[in-house]
Amino acid sequence: MNPTPPTPQIAQSIECTECAASISLQRQPLCGEIVRCRECQAELEVTCVSPLRIELAPEVEEDWGE
Ligand SMILES: [Zn+2]
Repeated sequence: MNPTPPTPQIAQSIECTECAASISLQRQPLCGEIVRCRECQAELEVTCVSPLRIELAPEVEEDWGE
């Protein structure tokens, strides 16, 4: 008997790693997807979807150089 209800796979929210703001997701995120925090504009990469984890995405330069 497990009293914990199943976690819905949609409408999740995650905490911004930069400012701790709650980021609402309209749908199930994909691993590697980039989400932007609307509070601090940080770009966060989804590194794991179960459980949902995010990390600050590396800044991507327009000029990749070599
Ligand atoms: Zn933030």
